[in-house]
Amino acid sequence: MSDIKSLEKKEGLVRGEKFRTHASFIIFKNGKEGLRKVEKELKALGHPLVLEDAGTFKWYPAFLHPMILMILKDILDWSNEDIFEMGTYSAKLSFMNRVLVRYMVSTEKALSKAPQMWRNYYDIGNLKAVDFNENKKWILIHLFNFDMHPLVCIYNSGYILQSMRNAVRGSNMNIEETKCIHKGDDYHEYKVTWE
Ligand SMILES: [Zn+2]
Repeated sequence: MSDIKSLEKKEGLVRGEKFRTHASFIIFKNGKEGLRKVEKELKALGHPLVLEDAGTFKWYPAFLHPMILMILKDILDWSNEDIFEMGTYSAKLSFMNRVLVRYMVSTEKALSKAPQMWRNYYDIGNLKAVDFNENKKWILIHLFNFDMHPLVCIYNSGYILQSMRNAVRGSNMNIEETKCIHKGDDYHEYKVTWE
């Protein structure tokens, strides 16, 4: 519990859309009852929030995101795979993600918008597609100045993978976090590959 409370020291803001998509996926997996359990726990920690009522474009403390992920593991017994799946689901559902990615004429164009897309969600961290090779079929993405929690890295893997599915034509797409600040690296690095 002290671990979860220490998240409150993390700075930064995130858009409410995050919590709305959380709500949909928690209901999908554990029903409304599961969602209420999560909200009850949040309230007990001093952060009352009805996830479904979060304002899509309103800013909230970013630490609420890892706090919810920790609650899901503790209270609803979620696995890392469930957290990853929630990331993919959120990117599928996200209004902002779909609008920005789907109507791009090319993969390069879509990827060039990645830093802006990140900034639409967070007022902290910098995300960049640093390398893209259509022939070798991989993309390298770096995320700087973003120190939240390892569970957020898992969620982000799912989110980035789904965003790439939206942006790149390819099958059997995969993602791996190849560098991570929680493992002593200077930034998070995600490598997306496909066939
Ligand atoms: Zn990481």
